[in-house]
Amino acid sequence: MSAYDKFLTEIARCNDDSIPIHFWWRDDDLISNSTQFEKLCLISDQLSIPVLCSIIPKLISKDLKLDQKNTNYVSFCQHGWAHINHEPEGKEKSEFGSHRSLLNVKTDIQNGIDILNNLTNKKVCSVFVPPWNRFDLSHIRALKELGFQYLSSYGLQDSSENSINISLINTHIDIIYWGKDGAHMRNINEIYLTLTELIKQYQNNYKKTKKIEAIGILSHHRVMQDQDFQALTNLMQSIKNAPGTSFTAPFLDISAGAV
Ligand SMILES: [Zn+2]
Repeated sequence: MSAYDKFLTEIARCNDDSIPIHFWWRDDDLISNSTQFEKLCLISDQLSIPVLCSIIPKLISKDLKLDQKNTNYVSFCQHGWAHINHEPEGKEKSEFGSHRSLLNVKTDIQNGIDILNNLTNKKVCSVFVPPWNRFDLSHIRALKELGFQYLSSYGLQDSSENSINISLINTHIDIIYWGKDGAHMRNINEIYLTLTELIKQYQNNYKKTKKIEAIGILSHHRVMQDQDFQALTNLMQSIKNAPGTSFTAPFLDISAGAV
């Protein structure tokens, strides 16, 4: 059985058990207009799939124009402040780890808010995406006080995270492989197999909690090559075409506005 067939089989299991199966799409590290960003917008537009693009406020180049033609399905949100690691040597990278004071965290995030508010006619979504998907839970208060409704990091939610005082809309699969020798898009079969495992875990979670969690696909347009965009198109199209599935936009709600 091919990797894609395994993926479809797992989707069919969800359908048989009446388990809702949704996907959503996030793309990180937007800082400037580029051919890659245009391709990303085009894919979203052509496939009518909403995408949430996270922007690094401190690194924005002056040429970044967000109000362009092909952004009907594109929304924006804040991706940290400067994408700088503040953790000590040997620790996993984080811009908002436990070593930083709440005041410094809050100042950084507020600086980002101020920049993004002047960037686009569209309302920026009330979602905070921490660099490296890491945000120390002791700083959640800062997000709440600054008015964020959602934190978007990485991984399926377990019961322990239910105590977090903010809604999570996580991604679950990064289609980019980040190696020491550089970043590249993962093999498409590897992506289908990872998705299959994720859907299995999600089914188990759902049977216990009845909680719907959309599976988040994470891309990084700046490290993608020409051929990767075709592969991404094929991937998104195949997910969209799988029976009983849909792409959602959990980052959009009435108070967050956008699109
Ligand atoms: Zn990033």
